[in-house]
Amino acid sequence: MKSILDNRPGLAKEVGRIAEVAGYLWQKGWAERNGGNIVVNVTEYIDDEIAAMPAIGEAKPIGATLPHIKGCYFYCKGTNKRMRDLARWPMENGSIIRILDDCASYVIIADEPVAPTSELPSHLSVHNDLIGKGSPYKASVHTHPIELIAMSHCNKFLEKDVATNLLWSMIPETKAFCPRGLGIIPYELPSSVALAGSTLSELEDYDVVLWEKHGVFAVDTDAMQAFDQIDVLNKSALIYIAAKNMGFEPDGMSQEQMKEMSVAFNLPK
Ligand SMILES: [Zn+2]
Repeated sequence: MKSILDNRPGLAKEVGRIAEVAGYLWQKGWAERNGGNIVVNVTEYIDDEIAAMPAIGEAKPIGATLPHIKGCYFYCKGTNKRMRDLARWPMENGSIIRILDDCASYVIIADEPVAPTSELPSHLSVHNDLIGKGSPYKASVHTHPIELIAMSHCNKFLEKDVATNLLWSMIPETKAFCPRGLGIIPYELPSSVALAGSTLSELEDYDVVLWEKHGVFAVDTDAMQAFDQIDVLNKSALIYIAAKNMGFEPDGMSQEQMKEMSVAFNLPK
């Protein structure tokens, strides 16, 4: 079957990276059933031929008016699709959409009429914000990392930067590779406007935010980088839990050791 990825190595590589990440999310147990979402801005790979491609089906409203994404193209996981299937067949479990000139609707252009995730408005609001800020970030990932979600069931970890400092202190690399830390969003109904709004504002200060008792939402230059940030944070959570299981509260690196890290690696915080 003909695919938009044929003879387009740049786009094929980007979609391949999304599929690889989807496989990791499933293997880690972070993507049960149709859980999680990946949306990636692929506009840089769009050539004249793609720009001229007709829509597959009708224009659909996004549910928001987002001026900065006018004419942009996104790969979106399909609604009700499974990450473990997307890992093997990314263009059957996701699609590439074009944002129309009204900035409020989109059409699917390839490969099949796979309707995008029901979380499309919140993901696209984030991408709209990133483009508006001139950010190099192109990918948003939502997933259900077990240990980070477990931590969000304890009130003390929901205070600002308590979880961030604890996770950073478990192993030096976590601060180096997730230098902005973990933002916290108190419980909100999944897919709600309130959840999308607080995610947008928390992403001003963090690349990864923890939705209380639900999961994480991360942004970065591509899906792999966003995954890596979540992965290092969850690794720290696992180290913390391993220490607790051995019967002690881990000491963690000291504030001096973490400060030394920030200076040595020129980290923002
Ligand atoms: Zn979720």
